[in-house]
Amino acid sequence: MKNEASKFTGLELLRQPFPAHQISKLPRPTRKDNPKGKCNECGGYHGLPAVHLDYVGHAALTDRLLDTDPAWAWEPLAMSESGLPVMDNMGGMWIKLTVCGVTRLGYGHAGDKIGGDAIKEVIGDALRNAAMRFGAALDLWHKGDLHVDEDEPKPRARQAEPEIDLSPKARAIRITQGVKDGDAENAAAAMSGWDAALIDSVWTLLDKATQDKLTAHWPKV
Ligand SMILES: [Zn+2]
Repeated sequence: MKNEASKFTGLELLRQPFPAHQISKLPRPTRKDNPKGKCNECGGYHGLPAVHLDYVGHAALTDRLLDTDPAWAWEPLAMSESGLPVMDNMGGMWIKLTVCGVTRLGYGHAGDKIGGDAIKEVIGDALRNAAMRFGAALDLWHKGDLHVDEDEPKPRARQAEPEIDLSPKARAIRITQGVKDGDAENAAAAMSGWDAALIDSVWTLLDKATQDKLTAHWPKV
């Protein structure tokens, strides 16, 4: 990858937006039973009409991690006595991601997947989550968590949510809920990637308790 981002190095490089060719499209049909057809937007074959969510796939993220630090590494946070990574009782796993000598935690789960695919999904999801703590692809974060198979992108089986309200008020509601759910770190990380005017306009809509929690978790980069 030699593009605009290449004038940055180290952790600063990790924060640079991904070029368009490294952003994949996840089709999500507006209804589960939409008839399938050839899609002009992504070239795939899936239920139409559909909305498309942008995401950075495992290969593109790995490419960026290697450009940032060829010696980057991840490991499970905990290993069992039999030498296998410890999964939590929700099928998720915490990992440590180390880039340029800095280690941050990430959490991944497999969504609806089961079996061997689920393990790969847990790892990919945890790496995306941990890399986001370094600022990677933060601009895409507000589009929600993604559980995709890179070989064959499939929409998750869930209620169609075609429109995401990006108004400050709607963002404030989501941020407040995220903090209430105990994920102030994620909420602060996402917010810190917005432009200053947007942060200001959302900030004034938050209650004091939410503001305090966000301040405590604001990324110190
Ligand atoms: Zn498509």
